[in-house]
Amino acid sequence: MISFENTEIAFRSKSDNDLKRSYLLFKTLSHNSLVKLGGSLTQSAIKMHIPVNWVVKPTIYKQFVGGESIEECGPTVRNLQEYNVKAILDYSVEGKESDEDIEAALIETLRSIKNAGNNSNIPFAVFKPTAFTTPDILENVSAGKKLTEREKQEADRFRIRIETLCKVAYESNVPILIDAEDSWFQNFIDDVVNEMMAKFNKEKAIIFNTFQMYRHDRLSFLEESYQKAVDGNYYLGAKFVRGAYMEKERERSHELGYPSPIQPDKDSTDRDFNAALKFCIDHIDRITIFNGTHNEYSASYLAELMEEKGLQKNDSRVWFSQLFGMSDHISFNLADAGYNVAKYLPYGPVKHVIPYLVRRAEENTSVKGQTGRELSLISKEMSRRRSKN
Ligand SMILES: Cc1cc2nc3c(=O)[nH]c(=O)nc-3n(C[C@H](O)[C@H](O)[C@H](O)COP(=O)(O)OP(=O)(O)OC[C@H]3O[C@@H](n4cnc5c(N)ncnc54)[C@H](O)[C@@H]3O)c2cc1C
Repeated sequence: MISFENTEIAFRSKSDNDLKRSYLLFKTLSHNSLVKLGGSLTQSAIKMHIPVNWVVKPTIYKQFVGGESIEECGPTVRNLQEYNVKAILDYSVEGKESDEDIEAALIETLRSIKNAGNNSNIPFAVFKPTAFTTPDILENVSAGKKLTEREKQEADRFRIRIETLCKVAYESNVPILIDAEDSWFQNFIDDVVNEMMAKFNKEKAIIFNTFQMYRHDRLSFLEESYQKAVDGNYYLGAKFVRGAYMEKERERSHELGYPSPIQPDKDSTDRDFNAALKFCIDHIDRITIFNGTHNEYSASYLAELMEEKGLQKNDSRVWFSQLFGMSDHISFNLADAGYNVAKYLPYGPVKHVIPYLVRRAEENTSVKGQTGRELSLISKEMSRRRSKN
């Protein structure tokens, strides 16, 4: 069974100063009230055009983001590669809705796909579908509402933008991950992604849908997606995550009075997540797995399933992934053992990636034990290094 205990391997890409900086940052994130205050002060400062780069960039941004542009991520990509860890450049500008912003996101995502096509250390491209239309279009189409002429045209434009991205990914031979967000947008996104898989996954998995296993309907949706792939004779690209928007999902279902799409408890999410991995290994001839998790059990369980099935550790149909700045003990130990590992590496101008950073800060405050785990691993490594000197 793979062990994630070795902190020398986990942190070998980090200098002593990097470790100290990370320690201080996670220590700060462990204070709930500080995170709330910092988050709202930063957002207000941005609204009032008060510069925040000087405080954000050397601290939380440096921990979780690769740089302001693809080019600025270069040194980080090379640093990870030294230890056999690959990178996935994720343009993390969120919450923009104007036509110009959508166009700009499209151009930047196309650049990131082409960049990945020219760099073997960047094995995937990625995008958030919400960057390519407005929330009301995704919501109305997903709910099956009758659309106005304008809405129909906008929905078509969304489909065309997604197809443009998928086609360029296919032509560049770069698998592309399509993130999942709020459940009320997802029916339309799933339909478009299934259509793209049927079109571009004939030879191998190029287009990947995301399955959020905190939804109680996703295991059966995985089985349906697999059946569609069998019937349509194409490969299924399946990225698994637990899901990042649980509170929002529960609040909305409560407010609007419909049954929550979220599992009743964490054990149910864990059970379905791991069952999904098992299902995919059992059907590996048709599925490529992208296991996006910081959960040690879910990472080691997939490694075990691979062994039971007799797969090579570096089988090209199985990938492990964590976010940059988090859970290096999982990423670097898996990579050291020979598994395929890629870190999600967000990039974008400081003020535009603030929503992403706020999510990371909140997650590290709220996810049970996550910050404590990072802190104790970093302390362990700092004292190991001290005792060596
Ligand atoms: C590479 C990568 C890509 C990602 N991409 C996406 C994406 O496209 N879309 C997205 O939504 N998220 C994405 N995430 C975030 C992910 O969904 C999780 O929020 C995060 O990774 C924490 O889950 P975990 O499996 O790492 O760890 P764990 O700590 O084991 O799980 C925490 C998660 O369990 C679930 N959970 C916690 N409590 C309960 C409860 N009471 N009832 C039910 N479920 C509960 C929640 O989903 C919570 O986030 C990504 C994460 C990674 C590493």
